[in-house]
Amino acid sequence: MTDLNNKVAIVTGGGKGIGAAISMELARNGVKVVINYNTSIGSAEKLIMDIKEIGGDAYAVQADVSNLEESKKLVEEAIDHFGRIDILVNNAGITRDSTFKKLSEEDWRTVIDVNLTSVYNTTSAALSYLLESDAGRIINISSIIGQAGGFGQTNYAAAKAGMIGYTKSLALELAKSNVTVNAICPGFIDTEMVQEIPENVREKIVAKIPQRRFGQPDEIARGIIYLCKDGEYITGQQLNINGGLYM
Ligand code: NAD
Repeated sequence: MTDLNNKVAIVTGGGKGIGAAISMELARNGVKVVINYNTSIGSAEKLIMDIKEIGGDAYAVQADVSNLEESKKLVEEAIDHFGRIDILVNNAGITRDSTFKKLSEEDWRTVIDVNLTSVYNTTSAALSYLLESDAGRIINISSIIGQAGGFGQTNYAAAKAGMIGYTKSLALELAKSNVTVNAICPGFIDTEMVQEIPENVREKIVAKIPQRRFGQPDEIARGIIYLCKDGEYITGQQLNINGGLYM
């Protein structure tokens, strides 16, 4: 089992929703957390206060991770502040849903850039530091939509499926090092992303989930802790946390 005390994690989009739950759960386990945010500085600062209240340590860095230079700056600031990086959680993501016929090139590119290209940006910037760790972890937050598809979500499904292929390939390349690479594929988790879905559609989704409820952000966060703590021999995998919706 890996001792997480004083390890350092970067969580992209870590100030809100699933990312905030991941940041908090890592902090609870003794990890120092670099909380990346793009625009939501308020929630990132509030989360730092909450983490400090439970005796943890966290630091916020603004960066748009769809941009390579900003991702490099994020990693440099993490190193300047905490001196090492052991865990990279690629959590930042957006949706711009539209049926394919109406999908604009801009919404295609933005979703691919924020969800998928960001993973290249942060990983390439952080990899040399992760390789120095005795227990490096790269965890990519993909989605059930990348596995099963989603109506009106060709852009998002392509990005999230891309993250899965990326995870497997990088896991192969890094298998002889101390760095594992895995994806977590959440089902429908009760955050702003799901709260934006119209109520009548939400009801139809819940009716299809075998466990008959949305997941909670901390249920994803506990999957992260499992991979970080007990995941020495787990690499290239998809951890499905979805209430049985996709098997
Ligand atoms: P959210 O909208 O609450 O959080 C997304 C986070 O990403 C926010 O903190 C946002 O500021 C950040 N972000 C967006 N663009 C960014 C950028 N360019 N640079 C840096 N940060 C950026 O959504 P969430 O539900 O917490 O989603 C978190 C991740 O989980 C996403 O990758 C999402 O695709 C994935 N996911 C969510 C669900 C769900 O049901 N909520 C299901 C499957 C996968």
